[in-house]
Amino acid sequence: MADLKSILHSGYQHPVSRSWQAQGRSLTKDMFMYPLFITDDADAEIELTSMPNQRRWGVNKLEGFLGPLVKKGLKSVILFGVPERKPKDVIGTLADDPEGPVISAIKTLRKAFPSLYIACDVCLCEYTSHGHCGILFEDGTIDNMPSIERLAQVAVNYAKAGAHCVAPSDMMDGRIKAIKAGLLKEGLAGRTTLMSYSAKFASGLYGPFRDAVDSTPSFGDRRCYQLPVAARGLARRTIMRDVEEGADIIMVKPGLPYLDIVSEARELAPNHPIAIYQVSGEFAMIHAGAKAGVYELRRMAEETCVSAVRAGATLLLSYFTPEFLDWLDEPYGA
Ligand SMILES: [Zn+2]
Repeated sequence: MADLKSILHSGYQHPVSRSWQAQGRSLTKDMFMYPLFITDDADAEIELTSMPNQRRWGVNKLEGFLGPLVKKGLKSVILFGVPERKPKDVIGTLADDPEGPVISAIKTLRKAFPSLYIACDVCLCEYTSHGHCGILFEDGTIDNMPSIERLAQVAVNYAKAGAHCVAPSDMMDGRIKAIKAGLLKEGLAGRTTLMSYSAKFASGLYGPFRDAVDSTPSFGDRRCYQLPVAARGLARRTIMRDVEEGADIIMVKPGLPYLDIVSEARELAPNHPIAIYQVSGEFAMIHAGAKAGVYELRRMAEETCVSAVRAGATLLLSYFTPEFLDWLDEPYGA
């Protein structure tokens, strides 16, 4: 016979008591940040075959697309530039091209949606001819110092254009400090959030994203700067380093296979918001499983996001954001 203390069902037998079992926060609309791909063809609206319902957007289409989402409660977006028309070079000049997709989109969105929080991914891989996230020595290895100087320059230019948040995803050493110093020098440090992709792993889940932004490296891969899959200790070190260097938000990427790292980040940076990027491959995988009849799409999307929050995340970068703006108004299956 079960001991008195064995009885746990009593605590979650009713939808209302189940809701009280969320330790910490439950999913809310303001937790979701929506990643957007912005191309330099201002009128473009290009379907991405590897990412269901996602598109590359031209700046002229943003207001029409985002208007209804903002009305439903969309609070924040993160922008990724996809230059298709101008030639790329070795230092990623297009990243902060004043006429380029990201800077144009920041200005358009600030004007159209004054309350929308605008974050910008900061990296060079979408803009360099070689497709790597930094500047290279002649032998093709990363030259870290000029890389972080260039990244800081790009971040400062996004902040000058009106971005509320800059989010370096490059994984170069010392870039948080370099960006923070750059913002400080320009008088922008106090009004620009610095969200660090601190524990970004060399994951197999980035394929659809690379198609979306056309950033597959022309040679080699990113294993010399993104973290090895098994590297728990290194993840702890990058998280602690980025806290020390002045990051305002710590991110773990991808999400689902790295929830233990999210939980570590929560412990190592208990006073920082912890973000999780539910990456393109996770999104595509959740869709593929639903299509194959393994589970219902909404149920698995919710399960993965609730798991992220349970592990310690307070901010979710997710391609499911538009769906959650509806779903969170109509709870089901509680
Ligand atoms: Zn990159």
